[in-house]
Amino acid sequence: MKYKIAVIAGDGIGPEIVAEAIKILNVAGELSGHEFEYKHVLMGGCAIDATGVPLPEETVEICKTSDAVLLGAVGGPKWDNLPGHLRPEAGLLGIRSALGLYANLRPAKLEPALADACPLKPSVVGEGFDMLIVRELTGGIYFGLRGRRMGDGGEEAYDTEVYSVKEIERIARVAFKASQLRKKKVTSVDKANVLESSRLWREVVHRVASEFPDVELEDMLVDNAAMQIVKNPGRFDVMVTSNMFGDILSDEASMITGSIGMLPSASLGDGTLGLYEPIHGSAPDIAGRGIANPLATILSAAMLLRYSLGLGEEADAVERAVAKTLDDGLRTPDIAGGAEGVRVVGTSEMGDAVARNLKSALCAREG
Ligand code: NAD
Repeated sequence: MKYKIAVIAGDGIGPEIVAEAIKILNVAGELSGHEFEYKHVLMGGCAIDATGVPLPEETVEICKTSDAVLLGAVGGPKWDNLPGHLRPEAGLLGIRSALGLYANLRPAKLEPALADACPLKPSVVGEGFDMLIVRELTGGIYFGLRGRRMGDGGEEAYDTEVYSVKEIERIARVAFKASQLRKKKVTSVDKANVLESSRLWREVVHRVASEFPDVELEDMLVDNAAMQIVKNPGRFDVMVTSNMFGDILSDEASMITGSIGMLPSASLGDGTLGLYEPIHGSAPDIAGRGIANPLATILSAAMLLRYSLGLGEEADAVERAVAKTLDDGLRTPDIAGGAEGVRVVGTSEMGDAVARNLKSALCAREG
């Protein structure tokens, strides 16, 4: 098959890490008989410099007509003083909304080789953990009615959490489908003991669950979920939750993996088109030095293979190649720590090593 991938390298370390992810996609494509055609487009600071706006219309059009979008990162001090609608981050919000991406998928996985980087005790982490947080991205309190008014006690402010049945149904389906590719367990996180919006959330998630009889569903209150993430992270497979709860819990979960340079993400909508990016930013402090960790972007490319192109086997192979590279002792400086027996390498050497391991894995499969 031939697939069209829109590539937004962006700013700072964006171009360096995206180049390594493309290296990996090329190996995966070559050895599994698929062809990837890349269309490089502008977004963020580089788009502002070239066209005056953070998200040119041409970028939106090319992304819309592609099978998937791979993004590095955008932003940097050069553009920090522009008005909000002209800042690089406006490009990010704009592309998510133009592509109708309402589900954010963030895995938080502890690679055994990086167990030292985890701030939790080994007795808590046990065999490691591998959870996927599915966060609703375009509804809830971040988009509800808000304002200020005069109350009996003087000035007050309010924000409103609103969820429709349709919004809950579609995010729940994303979570159940994602769990079918994993351990088939969904934890739905809400605050149904207090919030009416959470009670509707719970009702609807249970209705949707009947469409997925092979998946186990449990409900969990958000305060308990925040505790369980640090008490017993290994108990989770897929967690589905609202925009605000997901914002907070996904940051908590990413912290316990110990490294921002390792974590990928996917934003999905109704079809298979998705946007794939590392969770970190453009790291202007290390841009151009060849030391950025490309693994979060490479793992984002694995998610792209799995969720947009339906190439699950190749996605698994990329993830295993990353794990093998870490087992071999290769580390970029951000994950080197003080561990013994590791070899510190730069961005492209790390990408080359993953590519070699992927090639061996895929050749062995053929062979
Ligand atoms: P950041 O994630 O870019 O950097 C935080 C720290 O982590 C820095 O010390 C950086 O060197 C390090 N780091 C990040 N990614 C790394 C990698 N792959 N390898 C090694 N080290 C890495 O966050 P920030 O400094 O707050 O933001 C920098 C710029 O990125 C800002 O303009 C911000 O608006 C933007 N940003 C963009 C996105 C995005 O494009 N999705 C997300 C967050 C921040």
